[in-house]
Amino acid sequence: MTLENISRYDPDRVTARDGHAVVVGASMAGLFAGRVLADAFEQVTVLDRDPLPDERIARRGVPQANHVHALLEPGRVMLEDLFPGYGGEIRDAGGVVMNASKKLDLYQGGDYIAEAEEELPFYCASRPLFEQLTRRHVAERADIALRGACHVTDFVADDDGRTVTGVRVVDGDDGEETIAADLVVDATGRTSRTPEWLERHGYPTPETENVGVDLAYSTVAVDRPPENERGYLIVPSPPVTRGGTAVPVEGDRWIVTVFGRHGDHPPTDPEGFEEFASSLPAPAISEVLAHHEWDGDEIHRYPFPASKRRYYEDLDRFPDGLLVTGDAVASFNPIYGQGMSAAALDALHLHHALAAGRENLATRFFDRAADTLDVVWRITVGSDFEYAETEGKKPAGTDVFNRYLSWVVDAAHEDRYVAEQFTRVLRLESHPTALLAPGILGRVATAKVRAYV
Ligand SMILES: Cc1cc2nc3c(=O)[nH]c(=O)nc-3n(C[C@H](O)[C@H](O)[C@H](O)COP(=O)(O)OP(=O)(O)OC[C@H]3O[C@@H](n4cnc5c(N)ncnc54)[C@H](O)[C@@H]3O)c2cc1C
Repeated sequence: MTLENISRYDPDRVTARDGHAVVVGASMAGLFAGRVLADAFEQVTVLDRDPLPDERIARRGVPQANHVHALLEPGRVMLEDLFPGYGGEIRDAGGVVMNASKKLDLYQGGDYIAEAEEELPFYCASRPLFEQLTRRHVAERADIALRGACHVTDFVADDDGRTVTGVRVVDGDDGEETIAADLVVDATGRTSRTPEWLERHGYPTPETENVGVDLAYSTVAVDRPPENERGYLIVPSPPVTRGGTAVPVEGDRWIVTVFGRHGDHPPTDPEGFEEFASSLPAPAISEVLAHHEWDGDEIHRYPFPASKRRYYEDLDRFPDGLLVTGDAVASFNPIYGQGMSAAALDALHLHHALAAGRENLATRFFDRAADTLDVVWRITVGSDFEYAETEGKKPAGTDVFNRYLSWVVDAAHEDRYVAEQFTRVLRLESHPTALLAPGILGRVATAKVRAYV
């Protein structure tokens, strides 16, 4: 299931409203979850161990915030549905609302992808701006309390351990405290400790799959002429392991990230960074760096060893009163830009699960969310397995699909319709099987034949 076949958010679908929900983690997944929970619970509390000022900051708990954060279509749509006017706020804050068909140059498979026929809206902002605007909307609601500097140390359960009834927190000011809840949502990210908690309380733990890519990011900010709202994305194809992107954001800057997989990590000194950028398969990023002032010389680095998925949907026993969302369930190779949108789709599934009541909420939520995560995981991991060095379990049919996809990409260099459908799949708008529709197959085959004559 992707955006095209999930019903849109509709607050009127959730009618009953009672109890208290606690969300642990006030990053994007926690904020999305907190907002949809407020339709079904009288009070929602969103906790984070970091302080949460109304500022545009890269918090300690979200070290990836200094790097490019592309917001794909499900994230954009959910932010607009939950917080109408969000795009205008991005623009007011100096971010860019782009038509990606015309303004995002995507290089893949040895050439640039053709301009799509239709407009493809794309909100461009730094990750701290996305988080600040979202946090502000959540904080404005009387039925949601945001509590920063509040470290959750444990879940609390009833005597027989069947139901989670709250969380144990350490708060800078007040010391230790228990916060009672009718539902606890774990949105603590990739290092979530729910599996350990389940094990300690005699529950089965979710099977965890890792797909190793040994990736690293290096990122700088570069001054941008305000009238230049173009973005660039260079996706490597084997045997090339390096790529990069420059996204226009607020403050008249581009955030420029270069990355390398399978140990081919970009340096963090300015000369090395520039040299790495100039070795990419297309010159766009290198030109941005060469022709514009750097906004300071700090180069941020982020190593990302592996995508990780925890299969909560397969558990035959799980406590009542507990859910897990966002990176805590699945954290994807970031070069595909899916994390915030997967979290948004989790929240949309949670919304629909709540609309059907509270009974068996966890099972229904995990089942629904898994249908989407299967698609996102397949896109990420499938693409990663184009490289022989990728470690982990390769989904069945990956090699065949990858070969076909390389033909789609070849066709998309020239054919605007194929380019659009391909981009919609990358944006998590359409299911990858859309690329097998007769209208696309025919065009891909024609392009293939043309390449041989
Ligand atoms: C380098 C990099 C680049 C990325 N680029 C993109 C991109 O382009 N597009 C995209 O959509 N996604 C991207 N992502 C993924 C994206 O950052 C995440 O998917 C997104 O933030 C949602 O994650 P989350 O909210 O589940 O967890 P996180 O963002 O990891 O947040 C977890 C939160 O929980 C809090 N927390 C943890 N433990 C506790 C505790 N015990 N008590 C209280 N609070 C706690 C932390 O402080 C933090 O705020 C990228 C990731 C990386 C690593």
